[in-house]
Amino acid sequence: MGGVVIVGAGHGGSQLAVSLRQEGYENPIVLICDEPEYPYHRPPLSKAFLKGADDSLQPLRGEAIYVNNAIDYRPGKRVERIDAAARFCIVDGEAIAFDKLVLATGAVPRRPTVKGDDLDGVFALRTATDARRIKSAMATARNVVIVGGGFIGLEIAATMAAAGKGVTVLEIGERLLARAVSPLISTHVLARLAGAGVDVWFGTASAEFLGEGTVNAVRTHSGDEISADMVVVGIGADPDVALAVEAGIAVDGGIVVDAQMQTSAEGVFAIGDCARFPHWQLDRSIRLESVQNATDQARHLAGVIAGKHQEPYTAVPWFWSDIADMKLQMVGLSMDADDHVVAGDPVEGAFAVYHFRQGRLIAIDSVNRPADHMLGRKMIAAGYTPAPQEISDGTVGASFKRWSAAASAAPKGQRVA
Ligand SMILES: Cc1cc2nc3c(=O)[nH]c(=O)nc-3n(C[C@H](O)[C@H](O)[C@H](O)COP(=O)(O)OP(=O)(O)OC[C@H]3O[C@@H](n4cnc5c(N)ncnc54)[C@H](O)[C@@H]3O)c2cc1C
Repeated sequence: MGGVVIVGAGHGGSQLAVSLRQEGYENPIVLICDEPEYPYHRPPLSKAFLKGADDSLQPLRGEAIYVNNAIDYRPGKRVERIDAAARFCIVDGEAIAFDKLVLATGAVPRRPTVKGDDLDGVFALRTATDARRIKSAMATARNVVIVGGGFIGLEIAATMAAAGKGVTVLEIGERLLARAVSPLISTHVLARLAGAGVDVWFGTASAEFLGEGTVNAVRTHSGDEISADMVVVGIGADPDVALAVEAGIAVDGGIVVDAQMQTSAEGVFAIGDCARFPHWQLDRSIRLESVQNATDQARHLAGVIAGKHQEPYTAVPWFWSDIADMKLQMVGLSMDADDHVVAGDPVEGAFAVYHFRQGRLIAIDSVNRPADHMLGRKMIAAGYTPAPQEISDGTVGASFKRWSAAASAAPKGQRVA
């Protein structure tokens, strides 16, 4: 009897296993992961883990949960192949039959195809094993080059600078965090990092990592050489689609799924970083890399598999990052915005950028303004758009409260203006 096989026990896979039981699913659940640990929180790897003396991981849930819920967890095992038509997968040469299979394989860090990428001292960060290696090298490193001005690179840059290292960030684009936040926030983050001693080079890519066995410098495309006894590459991650490709499942910049997370193969689903899904806020499919997305898709799919619903996935996306003393929180998707209103003041280190498209609130990016973020999650989910004046004068919360009260008092089906 097949049951559900889940490939990958990161944020998505482990949440799915537990949520299936919460939804009353009673058939076997096999959770397979090529990492040796029990499922753990990945975000602290670039944050608290590197800063603290404590080397322990933050478990996603207690180990007893898996046993108590009859979840057959198999750590340190890799699913080598799946046969979607015959409904089995191969692990260590053993065929495991399934009724449903869920790909929760995450993403793999992108590496620059430059000479010297295989030198000791050149790292990328995805797993606990990577984080342990980086932390160990960090203990003796004096000069660190970070390739890529994205979230993971900048979190590490700030931590390294606070630990007294010389830190240089190479960013190929013209601003930091360009894919994720508004220019005002990029400028603010740059100023804070520069104040903390981080040297950021824009329009610069690494051309070669230099050294004999171990890295000692980075050569840029323009020919400059920057001394480095450690390099961390943070240039993004590609969805882990290898199994899907081999199984003939449709892949297009991620494993293609519909609004119920179903792939092109019946009975095979994909969630989290590896999945490309139709987004309700846009008129196209996208892939998101966040804890919220992986866990919300897992909860949603659990209901689908348990036969509780066939609803489309419509969660509001959100994400956070901790860089130096800045808590960045993003809600919604700002890429198609055509107007912006700022609340608070960057000079005071706490502000939020509200993004609009055709007059509707679609996203909020914030720095050290958690209240705007939390409110944003509720407003975007409810479809509420505040007036610009309310944002500037800080009365958004009160007006949303009034609107919500009116909405819940209105007869069913009647719209509240
Ligand atoms: C350093 C770091 C910091 C981050 N910080 C944040 C943050 O602050 N906020 C935020 O929202 N997000 C953050 N993220 C992103 C977040 O961690 C991911 O979006 C999330 O982990 C995605 O969950 P997932 O289940 O899709 O994939 P993952 O958590 O990556 O899990 C996938 C698992 O599947 C395993 N696997 C792959 N192929 C196979 C196979 N064939 N057989 C068996 N196992 C397999 C992988 O090894 C992995 O363990 C961060 C990521 C990293 C790496």
